[in-house]
This record gives sequence, C-alpha cells and structure tokens, in this order.
Amino acid sequence: MVVEVINTGTELLLGEILNTNFQYLSRHLNSLGFDVLYQTTIGDNPVRMRAAIEHALERADIVITSGGLGPTRGDITKEVVMEICGLEGYTDFSTLCRLYDFLAAKGVEPTPNNEKQAIVPFGADVLENPAGTAPGLWLEHQGKIIILLPGPPHEVEAVCETQLWPRLQKNFPDNGVIISRTLRLKGIGESAVATKIDDLIVNQSNPTLAIYARHGQILIRITTKTKTPEEAKALIGDMEAQLRARLEQYIYGADNDSVASVLGTKLNLLGKTIAFAESCSGGLASSLITDIPGSSEYLKGSVVSYTNEVKENVLGVKPETLKKFGAVSSQCACEMAAGVRRLMNSDYGISITGNAGPSPSEGKPVGLVYIAVANREIVYWQEHHFDGNRTENKLRIAEAAISTLIEKLQQL
Ligand code: ATP
Ligand code: MG
Repeated sequence: MVVEVINTGTELLLGEILNTNFQYLSRHLNSLGFDVLYQTTIGDNPVRMRAAIEHALERADIVITSGGLGPTRGDITKEVVMEICGLEGYTDFSTLCRLYDFLAAKGVEPTPNNEKQAIVPFGADVLENPAGTAPGLWLEHQGKIIILLPGPPHEVEAVCETQLWPRLQKNFPDNGVIISRTLRLKGIGESAVATKIDDLIVNQSNPTLAIYARHGQILIRITTKTKTPEEAKALIGDMEAQLRARLEQYIYGADNDSVASVLGTKLNLLGKTIAFAESCSGGLASSLITDIPGSSEYLKGSVVSYTNEVKENVLGVKPETLKKFGAVSSQCACEMAAGVRRLMNSDYGISITGNAGPSPSEGKPVGLVYIAVANREIVYWQEHHFDGNRTENKLRIAEAAISTLIEKLQQL
C-alpha cells in the first residue's frame, strides 16, 4: 500500500515551523507496514493544493493530509478535497455538539465560523478529535482513500491514536509489521562501530542495520519487516544479542532512552542525589535532567555560575585559582564540583566550565571544556574539545557531563 503524506501550511514552506507531523505520521505508518513513498509540503493556496492532492492520488493508494481544517478562510484543505471529489457537504450535528462542548469546557465562546468545522462531505466518515475542534475525515474516491487530519501536532496524535491507527490496522490486516529498535552508544566513533560489525552489515537482509552519528552519540537501528510482531521481536532480539556481544560496553540505552533517563534510573536504584554547577552550558544539563519525570528524587538543585563572581561567592572557588588558571581550567572545574556538592548537600556535584564559542576567551580555544564530578572524598575531571556551533556545543557539553557521571557512578 503506497501512502503519500501531504502537509499543508505556508508556515512550513517558510521554514517557520518544523514538519513534526510528517515525522510522527511516517514513523507510525511504516511500523504498520505501509510504504510511505512520497511526502509533499504545500502552502495554503487552493490551486497549488488541488494540483498536489491530484498528483498524489495518481501515485498513491492512500493520501493523508495534515492541516487546514480550522475555522478561518485560510483553512482550505477540506474544501479543496471536496472540490476534487465533486462532493457536497452537510452539517454533522453530532460533530457540532461535540465542538460546542469542547469549547464550553475551555470557557471559549463559539464563533459562527466554527460551524465550518462541522461540515462533513457526503460519504465521508468522521474521525473524532478528542483534543480539538476539527475532526479528521476518512473518504474513499475512485478506489483511493483520502484521510484528512488537523494541523496541531497534539490533535494529529489524538486522532491517530484513537481513530486512525486502529482503523488502518483493521482494514489492512495483511500488511505485516515493520518494527525497529535503536541501540544508543557513547564513547566510540562511527567508523569504529562500522568496523566491529562490518560482517553483520555486509550479510544483512532481514533485519537490516543502519548506523547514524547524532550529537556525539552513535545510533544503530535494527529494522525488520515480518507478518507478526512476535516474529519481528524474535528477529530483532537475535540481532541485538549479536550486537551486544561486540559492543556492550558502549551501549548506554535503547530506543527513547536518553543519557538523562539512563542516569535517572541508576540514581534511583542507588538512592543517590546530584547537583550541577554549570557555566558554559547555561543550565542545560539540569534542564535535560528535569525533562525526566520524577527527577526531583535525585536532582537537589543547581547553580548557573556564569561569572567568576558567582563561581567565587556562591560556589567557593578560590580567587587564586581563577587568577592563576582561569575559569576554563581543570582546577576551577574541580572546585566548582566540590563547591556545589557542599552547597546542595548532595552525594555528587558535577561541574561544567568551558568556552562554547564562537570566539576564544581567556586565550582558551572555542570548544575547550572541563567537566568534573565530586563526591565527598574525591574529585575527578576530564578535558573535552567540541567542534560544533554554540547551540550544538551546549547540548553536547551537557550530555557529556551527564555521561561522565553515568560512568563515574560505577567507580566513585
Ligand atoms: P487550527 O484550527 O489551529 O487552524 P488546522 O487544522 O487548520 O488547525 P493549521 O492551521 O494548518 O491546522 O495548523 C495549526 C498549527 O499547527 C500551526 O500553526 C502549527 O503550529 C501546527 N502545525 C501544522 N502543521 C504542522 C506540521 N506539519 N508539523 C508541525 N506542526 C504543525
Ligand atoms: Mg488553521
């Protein structure tokens, strides 16, 4: 079954927003065994949108649109599809009632243009939207299926999870499944990974293997297409065991794990607490930690010590250290880590000090970073060199600090 996804919205074409709807839809459609072979992004222009949908109907069995189901004149997707299919519409009262209830629950007065959202083309099925006012629609035209979804990502997900995925699975039970598992590695480069698993890559058929480098991590994706999820899981499990036999020491997690979630699990198990002293990462390491639900169990607090004054007055870094070695130094990093641990009374203090760029400071090069981890007895430090831009560097630095702590938890 060939699928084309059409994402509508001039904002997408202008590069103002990222097309996360496509990412979500494509991932799920692939896992349900559909071949997503085309993706089109089109602005809110009726002539071009019509041409794009007509073209999609020529080459795909299923066309899925997202966006343009809102109440304003700029929201035209449904109208364009009705024109292509030569369909009239009617006001669907159950949709209208649901829409009024939805707005009332939010304390919002409906406006006359909301009624446009309750118009359903004759012959189409409504895909209820539990998260918004515009329902999705499912219609069949000359042997093809056209599915219309709203634009806001949380509404797309709500319609898909409750309506669309179950219906597609029911209508296409023989599609098979495509299932992937991603192993996440740290502390090894892409070419070293490729060398270690070269024979597996050369001989791959089902599952297939792909290696990606992302933000200083290596991802190995194992993908398999089978008739049933059970068969897929068995094949993936077998391949994962072979990969682990060669790379276990570098694998820190899988699928949606992050360094922060892995650290959280370990800290919870050990019953230990942490605190960060962050300079060039500006609080990003602490922010990544607090992305994980339940992180208040182990993150006691953090200090964003951006100036020498705060490093000295809050964290207790010695003025001589700053004078003699500068803020970007292993000595300063060690005193920051020990200082924040004392201040927050945590089991571990982690510090980050460095130069995120774009220009050198204190005569130290861009990307030079010191990370230190302190417990009650000792302080461990590492020197890093990052070569991305400022934003990339901040993320890589924050993740490196979290990874360092994961490693050191075993040893300190
Ligand atoms: P609304 O009732 O909010 O107008 P709609 O169904 O008409 O919804 P759009 O107007 O196309 O949808 O998009 C509404 C918002 O949803 C956009 O401003 C944008 O923030 C988000 N959005 C739309 N399409 C995408 C997409 N492909 N990826 C990510 N976000 C999107
Ligand atoms: Mg809109």
